[in-house]
Order: sequence, then structure tokens, then C-alpha cells
Amino acid sequence: MKTFQIFSGVLTATVLAGSLMSCSIDAKVVVENSSDVAPKLIVGITIDQMRADYLYRFSDHFCDGGFARVIDSGYSCNDHHFGYAPTFTGPGHASIFTGTTPSIHGIIANDWYVRDLLATVYCASDAASTGVGVDGIDLESALYGKAGRMSPVRMISNTIGDELKLATGLKAKVFGVSLKDRGAILPAGHSADGAFWFYGKEKGHFISSTYYVEKLPQWAIDFNVSGEADRLVDLGWDMLLPVDAYSTCTPDNNPFEGAFKGEIRPVFPYDLKKLKEANGGFDILKGTPGGNTIIIDFALATIDGEDLGGDEYCDLLALSFSATDYVGHRCGPHAIETMDMYLRLDLELERFFNALDEKVGKGNWTVFITSDHGAATVPSYGASTGLPTEYWTSGNMKDRIDNSLDDMFGAQTWISNISNNQIFINEVACLDSDVSISEVAKTVSRLALEEDAIIMSITEGDLASRAAVDPIASKLFDGHQPGSSGDVAFVLKPGWLTYGRTGSTHGSPFVYDTHVPCLFYGAGVNHGSTFETTLIRDIAPTISAILRIPYPNGTTGSPISDVIK
Ligand code: ZN
Ligand code: ZN
Ligand code: ZN
Repeated sequence: MKTFQIFSGVLTATVLAGSLMSCSIDAKVVVENSSDVAPKLIVGITIDQMRADYLYRFSDHFCDGGFARVIDSGYSCNDHHFGYAPTFTGPGHASIFTGTTPSIHGIIANDWYVRDLLATVYCASDAASTGVGVDGIDLESALYGKAGRMSPVRMISNTIGDELKLATGLKAKVFGVSLKDRGAILPAGHSADGAFWFYGKEKGHFISSTYYVEKLPQWAIDFNVSGEADRLVDLGWDMLLPVDAYSTCTPDNNPFEGAFKGEIRPVFPYDLKKLKEANGGFDILKGTPGGNTIIIDFALATIDGEDLGGDEYCDLLALSFSATDYVGHRCGPHAIETMDMYLRLDLELERFFNALDEKVGKGNWTVFITSDHGAATVPSYGASTGLPTEYWTSGNMKDRIDNSLDDMFGAQTWISNISNNQIFINEVACLDSDVSISEVAKTVSRLALEEDAIIMSITEGDLASRAAVDPIASKLFDGHQPGSSGDVAFVLKPGWLTYGRTGSTHGSPFVYDTHVPCLFYGAGVNHGSTFETTLIRDIAPTISAILRIPYPNGTTGSPISDVIK
């Protein structure tokens, strides 16, 4: 029997072998050794578009205090996957922190078509909120208004942070920080104290919305005028190591990478000062290592400003690094730019972990590191090496399907929308023509399969039965919310993309998009690793179990028991 402290001075939980716990109100704190100390701060790190293989491919050049510190002393889940598709940023961040899948938390894509509105909505948009910025940003500009009108209201289940607040009488402090609004907002949850994201256009500032606060806290205002964004642009971007270190990458200058606006070739060194104006002002930082540095800087300012980890109630800080996603979209998984960004992020993580030791105390904090999705090999690069990878656009498919349905059921606009590899059928057309949606859907599904690029097409009605026997269909099932998702879902061939011919993207149910790192380190975490399959929805209940608090209310995952002390 071992005794585990949840909130020092408030609760002592007694952990019995084979049972989760029994609690008693007890001011007596019993801690066997420092490793049994309950965390004072949980840091949930999402590295946008980080594939699992990057941990191996770049590891020869990692420092001791970043990824290696976490792997060498913490716990690694080496076969960790998204158990659903579509594998996009919004659903990914929501799933990590809610412990469930889009079928339950409702974030079914970044943007999705809504039948009743005949329009597309954004996963973090909220017309009831307005932007909260600082002096110097044009608060009246339409762009700024859109950038600030955000909240988690479209996410219908709660998060680790929401349950942590309930478990502590709302005394836990919960914050989210990212370059992307959705990367800050969805992980922070509904009852968060704040979420901050980067508004690069004019000043390179972090902003928020009235969902959280009416005014930025003074420490955030101070950060915004500190000149950090300017400093990072001035630094530019050159290779960290001699070019030989990048021998597993494609050459710096190749036709599979996209260039920044205003440059002829996508090559080092990048003069960010020169490129800034043509690339959205301080938004140039989004796709360069400075975009990760400024997240660490702002995270440290948040910890100081809000005294995170400073009292007996465990706090939560959700950080999402987005620059890794932007570089992947521009250059792909095999570019020197991508590897270099990870080597530099590794150094930034070392700086961050050292700062946590100082600010929160060695052994007092816990971190998990994962990603919101992976990415495909750039299809044009794959094809150049002989792989059967290509590009596809829905192009004429909509017209082709509409025309075929006209011949069968009469002239109508049969297809309302095709997006996120989902087809929405026009319900009004079905009513008018006295044909059931399910009959039209079956026909649409069969017609979609005639596309050379499409290898699987399933109607909503068939999804459950196909999911029972097909692992890919099963992922579509868990990514699908009846009533919100499309009437027909389809899957492109492995490695095929709907994208430009340079850089890469994600969204599929295949392993290159679903296989991501999952690392735990710190208070309450065992040392070890596993190749048994774990799922993204298992992270939230694992953290909840470490904290001995309830799982988020929509949780469908399970704690990864070997991780937990
Ligand atoms: Zn992402
Ligand atoms: Zn390059
Ligand atoms: Zn992306």
C-alpha cells in the first residue's frame, strides 16, 4: 500500500493495489519520497504535425535536456495513434484534452459545412466574443475582429483543465498558449482562466477574447511591448549544424519545397527581415523557429505572471507549437528546414524544462508531449523516388455525381457540399423528388468510388457495420458525428493528397497521419516505454489518473496504466 498526496494540505489519497483510490479529508501529508509528490503544474505540450518517426530520425542531434530528458527518465508510448479521422488540428487538440474523439466532442474538422446554415463554420469561432488585444493593434480592422472572436463553445465535452478546476473548488489555474487560436483555446477548455494566441500581422502580439477576459493581464501587455517578436525576426534563420548533419534529409534546394513569397529558392539562410513584409508581417515567425521560441517566452511569462505551480492546487498550462506545422506544410517531413526546426525546438524545450525546475521545483511538475496529427511524405517527392503517390482534387466529381443523379432521379442540385472528404446531400432535393437520402447516399458512394484516387467510400448508414470489420472505416466512424458530418465519407489512396505540389498536409486515417509521439515525464510518472498501441484519447484519462481527479466528461479512452506511479 502506498500513500499519494493529491493536493498538499487538503486531501490525502490512499492508493490500494488493484483499486483506484479511496479518499479522505486529511490535512496530514504523507510522501514516501520526492518522486511521489503530486504535480504542482501539468504542462500539456502539443507539437503541431510532429510525426512519431521524428523522435528517432533526429535523435542523434538532440541535446540532453529536451526530448532526451523526457524519454530517458519518463515514459514513451511508441505506437501511439489517433484512433479517428479526419486528422486535423482542431479535432486533434480537442481529442488530446477531452479524452475522446470527434464523434463525442464535436470538433469534426477545422472548418465544416453546416446544413442548416448552408455555410461553413470554424472550430473556434464565436460571434458572441470579441477580441482582446493591446495598444497598437487596429482594433477596428475586420481582420483583427475575426482573429479575436474565438472561444471553445463548439466543443461539446469538457477537458482535463475543466475537471481540474472542478476538483479544486476552481482554485486550479488553467491557461492555453499557441500561435494558433484553436491550438490555445480547445486545450484550455471551457472554464479556463485564459487562452492566448499570436496575432502577427501588425505587431506580433498575443491576443485573447472576451470569452476569457475583458482586458489582457498586465504581464501579457508587458510581454507584447517587450520587442521579442522584433528580436526573433532580426535573428533570421540559418542551419543550426553543418549541412552534413542533415544527411537523411532532401537537399536544401529541391522542387518539393515551397519558397516564401519574395524568394526564388527555398534555401538557407532565411533573411526574415527582408521577407517579413511580403509574408504577413510578424506572421513570418509562424513558419520559422522563432515561432516556437516566442511560445516558450510567453509560456514563461504566463507562469511568472499567474504564479502557476505556486500553491497547493495543481495548475495546467497547455502549450501548442504551431511553427512545426507551418514548416511541414511548406517543406514536408524530409526537408532540412523541418529537421532544423525540431533541433532548435529541442533546445527550446531544454530551456523551458530548466526554467520549470527553477520556477516550480525539480520533481514538482509533469509534462506530456504529443502531436495533433502527422503528415504525408510530399507526394511529388514520393513519386520522384518511385512511390505511387499523386494529387487529386474533387474538381469535376461534384458535377459528375450531380449529372448522374439527374439521370436517375430527375434534375436537382443533389450535392450541397464536398469538404473534408465528406459529401453532403441536399435534403430538400431528396424531399422534392420523393427519394430517400439513404438511397441517394448509396448511389453517391458508388459514384465517388469511380474516382481513380478514391479507394474507400462509405455512407453514414453503413459506417457502423463497416467499422466493425475494417480498421480504416473504424477511424472514420470515430471521427463522424451523425447530423453534423457528411452523408458519405471517402478516403484517398495512401499517400495521395489534395494539395499543391510542394510541401505536405494531413487529414487521412493512414498511419503517417495517425502515428504521433506520446511522452510523459515528471511527478507521478514511471520510467519506461511500450510498443503496445495507445490512443490519443488515452492521454487525458492518464493525466487525470496521475492527478487522481475525474476524467473529462466525454472520455472514451483509458488510462495508460504503466505510465502512472
Ligand atoms: Zn495541426
Ligand atoms: Zn530548403
Ligand atoms: Zn497542418
